[in-house]
Amino acid sequence: GKFKDGLLKTRQNLTEKVNDLVARYRKVDEEFFEELEEIFIQADIGFDTVIELVDELKMEAKRKKIQQSELLKEMIVEKLVEIYYGEDENISTLNLPDTGLAVILFVGVNGVGKTTTIGKMAYKLKSEGKRVLLAAGDTFRAGAIEQLEVWGDRTGVEVIKHQEGSDPAAVIYDAIQAAKSRKVDVLLCDTAGRLQNKVNLMKELEKVKRVIQREIPEAPHEVLLVLDATTGQNAMVQAKQFKEATGVTGIVLTKLDGTAKGGIVIAIKKELNIPVKFVGLGEKIDDLQPFDAEAYVYGLFA
Ligand code: GDP
Repeated sequence: GKFKDGLLKTRQNLTEKVNDLVARYRKVDEEFFEELEEIFIQADIGFDTVIELVDELKMEAKRKKIQQSELLKEMIVEKLVEIYYGEDENISTLNLPDTGLAVILFVGVNGVGKTTTIGKMAYKLKSEGKRVLLAAGDTFRAGAIEQLEVWGDRTGVEVIKHQEGSDPAAVIYDAIQAAKSRKVDVLLCDTAGRLQNKVNLMKELEKVKRVIQREIPEAPHEVLLVLDATTGQNAMVQAKQFKEATGVTGIVLTKLDGTAKGGIVIAIKKELNIPVKFVGLGEKIDDLQPFDAEAYVYGLFA
């Protein structure tokens, strides 16, 4: 349901074009595969991934002696899911401890939807009966603390904050102490996303991570990188930078509802080997969905 509705633009750009291709070619041939490649690339599945995908489709079609394009369409859906998961299973869930305080660090550049995602996540975890606390770790951007507080009010979740311009590591330290004394289950930490001085930002994130690790050696349990799906290859570049600098355990891909190039989820997993754990399908509080490639691809082609 959610995937289907939120993916209208990608359905128009990917699914409808595949359907049209299948309708035009009753039997598959070299030209069919060339057109298919082009459709996949237009949907941002990523060049290398597309080549691999289409090669596998060709081989399997040959092996199974499949000529009818209608049958090949079923294979496309299966292959897309297969290529996403690769050897991995069950990679989409959050790895949080059963007991004790869980800490999730959110990283990503300004404007990608980080604050909104933290708010949505707070709502989701609270709905599951968890005690949640927010840490206003973006002390740099004007208005960031207030914006997080708006989400705190909306979800009924408290926010630990310092003044604008203060040391983010100190905010996170305080938030951990508060979380421990209040028997919080999950602490969600916001961080800065300024791009003006990348080296400086990455150092700041490292420091925040060190402070968390000093308090809880196995934390942060997740470092979630928030990426804006509408920025395409830019998002891939950001992912590479954050992966190197801070280590990333999962991706939240926002604004999938706003892009026709939803194939990027496949490219991210294949080319960066970081699982997409959640996707944003709108601006509302319940528009954050756990990502599952099977539901996603079947939702697209259903
Ligand atoms: P931040 O600077 O990374 O904290 O970004 P914000 O959380 O302030 O979000 C930037 C804009 O993106 C806001 O207008 C949000 O409502 C919007 N936004 C965030 N997530 C989504 C999403 O999944 N879909 C859509 N359509 N908009 C989103």
